[in-house]
Amino acid sequence: MPARHGRLRRVARRQARAYIKATKNRSVIMRSPLPDALPPLDRRSVLRGVQALAVLSLGLARQAVAAEEPASAAAAYAIGIAPGVYAHKGHVALPSPENLGDMSNNGFIIGREAVALIDTGGSAKVGAEIYKAVRAATALPIRYVINTHMHPDHVLGNAAFEADQPAFVGHHKLGRGLAARADRYVAANRDLIGEAGFEGTKIILPTVAIAEPTTLDLGGRAIVLEPQKTAHTDNDLIVRDPETGTVFLGDLLFSEHVPTLDGSIRGWLSVLDTLSQQPAARVVPGHGPASMAWPDAAKPLKHYLEVVASEIRAILKRNGTIEEATATVGLSEKSAWHLFEDYHARTVSAAFAELEWE
Ligand SMILES: [Zn+2]
Repeated sequence: MPARHGRLRRVARRQARAYIKATKNRSVIMRSPLPDALPPLDRRSVLRGVQALAVLSLGLARQAVAAEEPASAAAAYAIGIAPGVYAHKGHVALPSPENLGDMSNNGFIIGREAVALIDTGGSAKVGAEIYKAVRAATALPIRYVINTHMHPDHVLGNAAFEADQPAFVGHHKLGRGLAARADRYVAANRDLIGEAGFEGTKIILPTVAIAEPTTLDLGGRAIVLEPQKTAHTDNDLIVRDPETGTVFLGDLLFSEHVPTLDGSIRGWLSVLDTLSQQPAARVVPGHGPASMAWPDAAKPLKHYLEVVASEIRAILKRNGTIEEATATVGLSEKSAWHLFEDYHARTVSAAFAELEWE
């Protein structure tokens, strides 16, 4: 398929150039059992990595066709969405003894020396399933466990990876946010999932805090972590794989599952605007399909948030109440989303509390 390879090679070259540009102002963390203890690398080391990346990108164009197929053993849990990139679609449901808290998407990226995992599901048992999916795809060590934000369905599986001693990586505000909510998250999810399903689950706080765009090295493959301003939460972090143009957006992108708000509706709309202008070959939402086209995937979410914000502002303008808002705002969106009855009113009240003071 020469035409396809030509296109992939152009994409790889473009991404390598974008990566070189992007790393000029970025701190870089390279391999270490304790990455937070390591000083940032100098510019020359970064360039060496970039050269390796460019070579690898061209090589990947050749492997692309085969690697886009699901890895046979991992296929049941995670599907290959790009060369060396796998993603799992969580249930669009509330946590239950049946789904064990597997209600958010997660995935992993395989370098030449190590693996980075993005999110761990809502219990240690879900984490163990992800662990099996990683092992079905590669024997390489899991160097980084990245949490896209503090919500329990994205972090409660961390315990399944503790024995491998990866660095647990998150937004610099993740540790504070998660520690403050730890008891509540554990108690609420134990109730919903049940004692048996919840066994082994505990909060593991990040060991590496990301305060600015940061490159992590997986050996011949660099991924870029970008902390965001307050949006879905105050600790949203996205993960870019420049080699394939894949971006893990965490809960900055909802699909199918009605959006939930624990940060700032104004911030979220602003972050979506910024991210929509940054091209990606595909994105992985926090909820919904394992892989989506960008920026089209953001449109329904953006529409939902805009409807909620504008209808709340109209109520505020005539001195209406929060009760009125939760009963009437955004009802035109009801048929567009799953779990609307479970979460929509809460999203409206969070947005109301914010917009009341603008
Ligand atoms: Zn979330």
